[in-house]
Amino acid sequence: MIPGPVRVPQRVLRAMSKPMISHRSSDFEKIYEECRSRLRELFETENEAVILSGSGTAGMEAAVGGIIGKDDKIITVTNGKFGERFTELGNRYGTAVLLEFPWGTPYDLERIEAALEEGAKAISIVHNETSVGIVNPAKEVGELARRHDAIFIVDGISSVGGNEFLTDEWGIDIAITGSQKCLALPPGLAMVTVSKRAAEMLEDGKGGYYTDLKAHLDKAKKNQTPYTPAVSLFFALQEALIMAEEEGLAERRARMARLAKGVREAASALDIDLFPQVNEHSAYSNTVTAMKTPEGITDGQLRGGMRERGVVVSGGQSALKGKIFRIGTMGACTEADVLRTIQTLELVLLKEGLISSLGAGVEAASRAMER
Ligand code: PLP
Repeated sequence: MIPGPVRVPQRVLRAMSKPMISHRSSDFEKIYEECRSRLRELFETENEAVILSGSGTAGMEAAVGGIIGKDDKIITVTNGKFGERFTELGNRYGTAVLLEFPWGTPYDLERIEAALEEGAKAISIVHNETSVGIVNPAKEVGELARRHDAIFIVDGISSVGGNEFLTDEWGIDIAITGSQKCLALPPGLAMVTVSKRAAEMLEDGKGGYYTDLKAHLDKAKKNQTPYTPAVSLFFALQEALIMAEEEGLAERRARMARLAKGVREAASALDIDLFPQVNEHSAYSNTVTAMKTPEGITDGQLRGGMRERGVVVSGGQSALKGKIFRIGTMGACTEADVLRTIQTLELVLLKEGLISSLGAGVEAASRAMER
């Protein structure tokens, strides 16, 4: 029950065991074409979609390296761990102007606008900040980016397919997702969509070599990749995208929303505080819920106790180590998974003397997840 990598459905695992094919064969080209077309639906975009063999960070690097040269500035908006990664990438290729908000607190749009007024070639945000369980305002930042003519780069790695994510409507020039999150594949693929405006800024030889976005876009015209891709993962992606369509993209998001609501309501029934502070420009995530570790129990007791009983949840990252724990509700996660997780949490809280009877969390989650 961690926020990625998540459990991979049997159908996807079986797809990965198909015999190997050449990545220069027409069979591969058909798979790549189908995946690119289905990804456009998932990202709600008419933009080009490419698939890089590499984890989500490869997609982030392709985006920043493709757009930012050594004389360029990128505003990197941060309220958690993954926003910081954009800062590091920005400084690797050019200059990052870090706009930092305390982890788990909403962006201040006025500060973002003021930073854009200073001038920057691009701005990056993390839509679903996995480290703190907050959804950031892509639509609003997209409007500001457009007004100031900045390329808008959005990390949708733990968001696309789980939260509403409207690439075209929000004016996202480069959007990124990763395979091990809402699509429920193993890790190893980064899916990236690129607007015409952003594609025109890409130049040969700029940015990384393996993550050269222009090379990927050029080759994608023939439904090929520049280098040998992780072919088995492409088989898996094809199957996962078919499964997503069978469930229905809206229904799939609604399922994850229900599950996350179940976790939040259970937390409230068990007197556990949610970590992020949300306002009218932010929201709780459908895909990961971050909660404060209650007083009277350590992170080791809480997560260790759950693990001993067969349920793995995540802890906090960096300064939040030992202070929060996080439950993922992305990918193929079900109501039964959430109920088992909450029940296990209750067992641990009971053992440590934080609650005196079982059932309140499970009941609250059950009611919240009712269809
Ligand atoms: N961005 C977000 C929001 C993430 O959740 C993650 C991974 O958890 C990453 C970036 C990094 O992706 P990866 O570990 O696939 O490189």
